[in-house]
Amino acid sequence: MKNDDLLCPSAPLTQESFLFGILDEKAEVHYTEKPIRITEGLAKIFNELDNPEKHFRFSMKCSDSSCAQWENEKCSIASALKTSSINQATKLTACAIRRACRWFSQEGERACKLCKYIVTDIST
Ligand code: SF4
Repeated sequence: MKNDDLLCPSAPLTQESFLFGILDEKAEVHYTEKPIRITEGLAKIFNELDNPEKHFRFSMKCSDSSCAQWENEKCSIASALKTSSINQATKLTACAIRRACRWFSQEGERACKLCKYIVTDIST
């Protein structure tokens, strides 16, 4: 996978993004079997929610050096996952975007095991 083709797994809701995770009441992510393209109808429904990113995980093309999270030629969120002391889930969960995921590409399974606890915050 070329770096240019990698996907951000914590993207905002836009017309270019697609849904791949749904958060439960404990804010834990459940991954969809396939990525779901955001149609106009879906975007309208999601935009009625206060913060769609707090309920769903969206993905879109990684913007690498144009992203505020990009540090030292890497995604700083993926780097933080690698060094986090949060207890790891034992099993690797199936994920529809793993083949192209920036976090997996950068940090491997360690990122995946913590990924389901991440809530996208676009408030800053
Ligand atoms: S870090 Fe792993 S689980 Fe999370 S989106 Fe990427 S491939 Fe999927």
